[in-house]
Amino acid sequence: MHELTIAENIKKTIEEVLKDKKAVVTRINLRVGKLRAVVPEALIFCFKFVAEGSSMENAELKIQEIPVKGICKKCDRDFVIDEPLFICPFCGSNHVELLSGRELEIESIEIEEG
Ligand SMILES: [Zn+2]
Repeated sequence: MHELTIAENIKKTIEEVLKDKKAVVTRINLRVGKLRAVVPEALIFCFKFVAEGSSMENAELKIQEIPVKGICKKCDRDFVIDEPLFICPFCGSNHVELLSGRELEIESIEIEEG
């Protein structure tokens, strides 16, 4: 269950950003690439668990899933990859470069100061 580790890292990162600021985190916007194989429900559950008692315990975790996309180095077309094989659906070439899908980042957070 790697969602627990991810949840702990999110909490740590936000704590570092907020430092000693007295703020309540209301929302966390995340971008997660599909290659990360994160189950959103599991991540939300784990985050609730690790955030308990902190300034972000009531924050809403908004997970934006980023599709796996590649670009063919042979015919220069880009496409969404649904299979574990990175093969261009247009020309069949396997010279495919990954454009997206590995993201795991906090896009933004919303806070209430006071
Ligand atoms: Zn191609």
